[in-house]
Amino acid sequence: MARYRGSVCRICRRENLKLFLKGDRCYSDKCAFDRRSYPPGQHGQRRTKVSDYGIQLREKQKIKRMYGLTEKQFHLTFKKADRAKGITGTNLLVNLERRLDNVIYRLGFADCRTQARQMVRHNHFTVNGHKVNIPSAQVNIGDTIEVREKSRAVAVITNAMEAVARRGLPQWLELDKANFKGVVNAYPVREDLTMPMQEQLIVELYSK
Ligand code: SF4
Repeated sequence: MARYRGSVCRICRRENLKLFLKGDRCYSDKCAFDRRSYPPGQHGQRRTKVSDYGIQLREKQKIKRMYGLTEKQFHLTFKKADRAKGITGTNLLVNLERRLDNVIYRLGFADCRTQARQMVRHNHFTVNGHKVNIPSAQVNIGDTIEVREKSRAVAVITNAMEAVARRGLPQWLELDKANFKGVVNAYPVREDLTMPMQEQLIVELYSK
């Protein structure tokens, strides 16, 4: 299915969780989830019994949408996690965190993952000194992610960097704000992910 192009605030309301998909707005009193924390649509406030399958599906949709992936991309990421050694669910989350667009967002060079994805596509960053415009590229320990010289005055990036303090920097990343540079010091671990996520439900869903 094609990328979702509707209102992203509907996604938060559908998943019953603030997913922080809109940068600054998510921290303001304009947040749609804070105003109407029930599912969107005519029957949003209706009570419904959810099956086990429904619970698993919602969890998958939530995490997929949080990282801005299509179903195909998400399923491929899952398959890769399944093939790797270790716990599949944890591998899945770690692989999602290691995506370049997510790292750009975590470092504070973008306000949200959608914006990070677009900026990566527009060649605003380098990894280890090389231009990389693939949002799904996986970062490795020791990688240096830098804003390109000509992009350092871009207002979207400078504004986002001012706002990063509010989100906090994960301990596996290091930021050199003055030089528009970030370094991957370690791979993320499950404990680094503070959003409520039940990855085992996704494993159960895809194992059917
Ligand atoms: Fe979600 Fe942000 Fe919209 Fe609030 S403002 S509903 S957190 S995307």
